[in-house]
Amino acid sequence: MRADVLSLTPQGLRCEAGGFHIDPWRPVARAVITHGHADHARPGHGAYLCTPEAAPVLRHRLGDVRIETLEYGLATGIGATRVSLHPAGHVPGSAQVRVESQGAVWVVSGDYKLQDDGLTAPFEPVRCDTFVSECTFGLPVFTWPAQQAVMAEIRAWVEAAAAEGRTPVIAAYSLGKAQRLIAGLADLAPIRTHGAIEATTAVMRAQGLPLPPTEPVTDPKAQRGRLVLAPPAALGSGWLRRFGPVATASASGWMRLRGIRRRRGVERGFVISDHADWPGLNAAIAATGAGTVFVTHGYTGVFRRWLEAQGYDAHILATEFADDDAEEEHDG
Ligand SMILES: [Zn+2]
Ligand SMILES: [Zn+2]
Repeated sequence: MRADVLSLTPQGLRCEAGGFHIDPWRPVARAVITHGHADHARPGHGAYLCTPEAAPVLRHRLGDVRIETLEYGLATGIGATRVSLHPAGHVPGSAQVRVESQGAVWVVSGDYKLQDDGLTAPFEPVRCDTFVSECTFGLPVFTWPAQQAVMAEIRAWVEAAAAEGRTPVIAAYSLGKAQRLIAGLADLAPIRTHGAIEATTAVMRAQGLPLPPTEPVTDPKAQRGRLVLAPPAALGSGWLRRFGPVATASASGWMRLRGIRRRRGVERGFVISDHADWPGLNAAIAATGAGTVFVTHGYTGVFRRWLEAQGYDAHILATEFADDDAEEEHDG
């Protein structure tokens, strides 16, 4: 990419004038972190900068690392740049990074969504010259139903499974998606949780997020008819077999594609995503007022051509963020 404010290095996206990287994938001295998902907040950096809301999860995942925090909307000087963090709406604490250097403004979106999930500070468009946008779901087929409608579908499915004497188990990423379901299905509390989800949920509850009580699964056989949340990887494991008869589902934007649901071996797919859908991506990009857009993370080829046809100066940024389809380590 043309290097003025940010450029791509083997460690990741670097700001030369500020002497820092954003969500670097190899160890660096100073990392600005958009959010706590494993492909964005990696171990081994000398120092981390994130929002106060993202810090507890970073500590939980990375241990005793040096973390500084910066509140949404407050600018700080780093080297010869001004840096500020703005709500990305992706998961609680997630941020877009605004970098201003010699009059040029770049914004790195991190992962983002425009839907208000009721837990996460909603996405705020930030005016800039150059916008680095994820495009995980950058195809027109990806449009999300309203969250309330999906929660109603889940309730009906849970009831049906219970009536059949089965235990309903939903695969949901342990940071973000799981808490969204726990909050959105408060009437089903206490929802049963796999240990990985219980741990993240406890961290987020302790920082003050309004999360109804949950109950870690200790005796799988005793859960008949109660909703269980597990990380996607647990669904293909011996853990699931201990429940007896189960009904399985996945909660992900990928569930918009029937073939992926079949490949994942779940009976039911609920279309709920922590990423922007096609209308969301287009609305977010337009709202920045940016003339230049770098796309990353997803259907970059198609999306870049689409943006170019809309009059943007559009480029692909080859980052090493996880392919969401490798769902074990990433959310959808
Ligand atoms: Zn993410
Ligand atoms: Zn990501």
